[in-house]
Amino acid sequence: MTYSVKEIYYTLQGEGAQSGRAAVFLRFAGCNLWSGLERDRHEAVCRFCDTDFVGINGPGGGKFANAPSLAQAVFAQWPQGAPNGHQGKPYVVCTGGEPLLQLNKALVAALHDKGLEIGIETNGTLLPPPGIDWICVSPKADAEQKLMRGDELKLIFPQGGAPPERYAAQDFRNFFLQPMDNQDRTANTEAATRYCLEHPQWRLSLQTHKLIGIR
Ligand code: SF4
Repeated sequence: MTYSVKEIYYTLQGEGAQSGRAAVFLRFAGCNLWSGLERDRHEAVCRFCDTDFVGINGPGGGKFANAPSLAQAVFAQWPQGAPNGHQGKPYVVCTGGEPLLQLNKALVAALHDKGLEIGIETNGTLLPPPGIDWICVSPKADAEQKLMRGDELKLIFPQGGAPPERYAAQDFRNFFLQPMDNQDRTANTEAATRYCLEHPQWRLSLQTHKLIGIR
């Protein structure tokens, strides 16, 4: 299978339970809930996206002819000679777009062969191949959610039609509310903070990469 990749880069995970952890971001091109084109946003299933996942023109992006070549490109971003083991396992976050349109068994195996721990950030509308080490689902109000278990549920808040109560009984180890980043960000952050105070099952996730000015 050929993989279409928007970009591959090394950074710190900015959000959720793995926040602050060094990671290679593998951003796949394409999503099943929006074309990524502004002219289509008003009729998309998901309309608040803040990510450019169109095309393969980002740093490190391109078409990869097979899983080993993509795994090698990901691994090459990890600082070579960095201490391993308990000092910090090489970590890749598969994101997009929607990574499960492309992330398959062969790529999971190839990334593991490189010694990478694999995380994904998915909208939950597709089921993952086995073997992924950290599953983060960020459900969207108007999309049918198929993946209802994992390590982390990260709900962008507030979302009309997607109150936290809709997800609170699902099989996740961590529940996060992340304030929606739009013109109401301050009010959204206050509302998310209040909700977490009143419902301690939920934790607040801030987009720390935006706060400190990294990607
Ligand atoms: S599901 Fe995710 S990648 Fe797709 S349009 Fe929505 S926020 Fe963007």
